[in-house]
Amino acid sequence: MPPEAPDLEAALRPRLPSPVQPVEDEPFTSRGIRLLLKRDDLIHPDLPGNKWRKLAPNLRAAAGRPLLTFGGAYSNHLRATAAAGRLLGCRTTGVVRGDELAGRPLNPSLARCAADGMRLVFVDRATYRRKDDPEVLARILAESAQDGDVQVIPEGGSNALAARGCADLGRELDGTADVAAVACGTAGTLAGLAAGLPPGARALGFPVLRGGFLAAETERLQLAAFGGRTGDWSLDERFHFGGYARTTPELTRFAEGFEARHGLALERIYVAKMLFGLTALAAEGAFAPGTTVAAVITGRPEPADRPGTSDRPEPAGQPDAPSSSSR
Ligand SMILES: *Cc1c(COP(=O)(O)O)cnc(C)c1O
Repeated sequence: MPPEAPDLEAALRPRLPSPVQPVEDEPFTSRGIRLLLKRDDLIHPDLPGNKWRKLAPNLRAAAGRPLLTFGGAYSNHLRATAAAGRLLGCRTTGVVRGDELAGRPLNPSLARCAADGMRLVFVDRATYRRKDDPEVLARILAESAQDGDVQVIPEGGSNALAARGCADLGRELDGTADVAAVACGTAGTLAGLAAGLPPGARALGFPVLRGGFLAAETERLQLAAFGGRTGDWSLDERFHFGGYARTTPELTRFAEGFEARHGLALERIYVAKMLFGLTALAAEGAFAPGTTVAAVITGRPEPADRPGTSDRPEPAGQPDAPSSSSR
């Protein structure tokens, strides 16, 4: 850790290890399965869940330099990065997909980013899609970063540092769970979780995007972070409900039922889909009686996350989604 790196633990006081909460939920208990909620949503009020785990190592590496990162108009990662900048006193730039947003009032999520001091730069979708191309990135940096030497954090915050940070999640579950389930957007969390789990435990990822590209992405991140594929992990691609931020009445009914049974507000873009998938797998007999399943609660609801609120992204495609086409 560079000497000038901020002492994140002292500055931000994360609640780690995150709490584990057993819940009695009929679809699980009736089949002899123990369900635990791994409450990563409680790690930090402004950097909840995997956003803390992924950002913390990047903030250490930045060592106080300005941060530049990428996201869609409703990105949890952009909000978390902006909050980190405010709390640590470092400058942040958010490169937002969609230059048509530049002339409009900010949605609540971007307004939060701006209020936290993040400079927002809107780029057209074609450029955004190619942002990992070094030439395109250099152009974005030249046009947007007044700051010179910046720490560039990829979309969704997922890079090798982030995946290594998420290995702690797996380590915290050592001796607790046979199966750990997590929702996947860019797969940095799954890549790290699987690497940190003890032998004999397995990780189960539920992509919230269409396209089936996250297995390759998980492998790419594990290669970068750990030198190769590691841990026992798999993806179940059946529970994206049409794509990023899409929902169905069935998913809404499920989420409302779970919320009512357990008094816990569910984040709908990721967490609700993962719990739906896990519940479906339990019903299919995917878990032997006696299995302990930990569902990672990677975040909590924000008003701006709710599909159906005003100023939704365009209906076609996968609006705020981490972009599969970028590599
Ligand atoms: C960002 C996010 C995810 C996705 O994590 P990845 O590492 O991108 O797969 C899951 N859940 C919540 C609540 C998130 O905000």
